Amino acid sequence: SRQFTRPLNDLANQFNTLLSAIAGAERVFEILDEEEETKDKENSIELVKPKGEIEFQHVSFSYEEESKTVRDISFYAAPGETVAFVGPTGAGKTTIVNLLSRFYEVDDGKILIDGYEMTSIKRESLRHNMGFVLQDVFLFEGTIRENIRYGKLQALDQEVETASKLANAHSFIVKLPKQYDTVIKQDSSGISQGQKQLLSIARVILANPSILILDEATSSIDTITEMKIQEALQRLMKGRTSFVIAHRLNTIQQSDQIIVLSEGAILERGSHESLLNDKGFYYNLYHSQLKKETGS
Ligand code: ADP
Repeated sequence: SRQFTRPLNDLANQFNTLLSAIAGAERVFEILDEEEETKDKENSIELVKPKGEIEFQHVSFSYEEESKTVRDISFYAAPGETVAFVGPTGAGKTTIVNLLSRFYEVDDGKILIDGYEMTSIKRESLRHNMGFVLQDVFLFEGTIRENIRYGKLQALDQEVETASKLANAHSFIVKLPKQYDTVIKQDSSGISQGQKQLLSIARVILANPSILILDEATSSIDTITEMKIQEALQRLMKGRTSFVIAHRLNTIQQSDQIIVLSEGAILERGSHESLLNDKGFYYNLYHSQLKKETGS
C-alpha cells in the first residue's frame, strides 16, 4: 500500500526541512519530540543496549473516537526474532508499527520493551535503539557520506565505508564520479529508488539498533537491486528484533512469526508452513499471489 504511515511520512518531510536548517545539530527526533509530543514522564529510564524483547499485551488504539483501528493485539517477540505483519490495506499493519515506535500512545493495553513499559522509557532513548528502513527513504541535501553518517554522527569515514559494503551500497557509490562526496540533491536526481534504499540500510547498519522496523519498497526497483536489498536486509536483521510490514509474501517466509491482520485484529498467526497448513486467509493470499507472479 502506498498509503503508508502518515507520521512516518510526515517525519520524512520534516526531516528534510529540518536537516537543511540544522546541519550538524542533535538528532532530529529530539526536536520533533519537543515540538510534537508529550514530555517524557518524570524518572523515565534510559534504554542502554536493549536485548530487543518486545511484547504487546492487549493493545487497542483508535485515531478517532468512533472506531477502533486496532483491537486487542497481543504478541511476543524474543530478542533477534522477525515478526511480519500481513493483511489487506487498512488492516492496521502501519498502526501497530506506529505504536511500537511510539508515534502514538496506546488507548488500552501495554507495550513492553525488555520488560519495561514503553511509557516509562525516554522517547529519545527508545528511538535511538530503533532503526527504520522505509519505502520513502529520507535523504537530505548533503553528501552520500553525510547521509549515511547520520546513523552515527561521530562515525569515521572507514566505518561509513564498512557499513556501505555490508549494505551492498559501496559498489554503486564508488562508480559515481564524486563517490562518497556525491551531493544528494533535494530531488535525489541521479540515484535510483533502490539505491536510496541501500543508503538507508547502510545508515541503519551504522546506527546499530537492536530493534528494526522495515517497510519494503513495492515498486520501481529492478530485479538485481532488489536482490541486493534483500541480501543487505538479511545481514541487517541478523541478531536484531525486526518487524516487517509485508507487501509480498515471498520475502517473509523465513520470519519467526507471521501475524495476519484483518480490520485491526489478529486473524491468524504462525510460521509460513503452519499458516499454509491452516488453509485460511494466509493460504489463500499466498496462492493468489503465486498465481499472479507465475501468470498461471
Ligand atoms: P495498513 O498499514 O494495514 O494498510 P493502517 O494502519 O495504515 O493499515 O490503517 C488502519 C486504519 O486506520 C485504516 O482504516 C486507515 O484509514 C486508518 N488510519 C491510518 N492512519 C490514520 C490517521 N493518521 N488518522 C486517522 N485514521 C488513520
